[in-house]
Amino acid sequence: MSTSKRNPVALITGGNRGLGKSMALHLADRGVGVVITYRSNAAEATDVVKQIEAKGVKAAALALDVGDVRGFDAFAGALKAELAGRFGRDRLDHLVNNAGIGVHASFAETTEEQFDALMNVHLKGTFFLTQKLLPLIADGGRILNVSSGLARFTFPGYAAYAAMKGGIEVLTRYMAKELGPRKITVNVLAPGAIETDFGGGAVRDNAELNRMIAAQTALGRVGLPDDIGGAVALLLSPEGGWINGQRIEASGGMML
Ligand code: NDP
Repeated sequence: MSTSKRNPVALITGGNRGLGKSMALHLADRGVGVVITYRSNAAEATDVVKQIEAKGVKAAALALDVGDVRGFDAFAGALKAELAGRFGRDRLDHLVNNAGIGVHASFAETTEEQFDALMNVHLKGTFFLTQKLLPLIADGGRILNVSSGLARFTFPGYAAYAAMKGGIEVLTRYMAKELGPRKITVNVLAPGAIETDFGGGAVRDNAELNRMIAAQTALGRVGLPDDIGGAVALLLSPEGGWINGQRIEASGGMML
């Protein structure tokens, strides 16, 4: 099997809901086959797969806890089997390290447990999952990590979360440098505040917070999942191939 000029295949972690789901649907609109991962909600993941297949595009869903590196070997094996069986190939073209959690706690009150949970999912997970999947990513492929506007500007309560995202931004540049010889690009997308379940759905459900963020955003509203799904499809399009080692913020101009 080889990676010929057929439509690309993307792996998106945390694709059963929120931004990952929107990314999957937008990529599918461009003919990109998609493997999404879910942590526990198989029914949600199956629904996303069905929505993608309804577009005439191949899709699959695999369980994965990105916060537990011990599961990565088994995941890589399952992914390999899925790529061969469902997509008829042995390599991925795009990897989007999207899965994440939000923890809101002041610097003074953040516990070691909260810190470790954030580190395991965001930083350690992104680092070692990508490392594990390197043999399954095609030369010339694309990796897109997900950061946050909070790595550039500050809101009280996000010290640990934003520190992990800052780490991902630095990691992105190193990955781009070291994977360059394989012609793999690595970039990091930093969404602004988006209406999802993230952080208990606060941006979506807390009207006062929503208004406050909209007022600090040049385009006058908070982000919606489609704003990010579209940005990801744009960055992973063939025309985006010369963008490498960059932090791209998609926030409508938040906190400029
Ligand atoms: P959601 O809470 O809506 O969805 C999070 C996704 O990540 C779910 O699919 C969830 O799976 C998955 N996930 C969480 N923890 C794990 C884990 N340990 N292993 C595997 N999967 C996991 O969040 P968003 O879609 O909004 O966030 C996606 C990314 O975007 C995150 O990295 C987040 O930090 C980032 N981001 C979000 C912003 C926002 O305002 N929404 C702003 C900036 C960045 P499950 O359903 O099984 O829990």
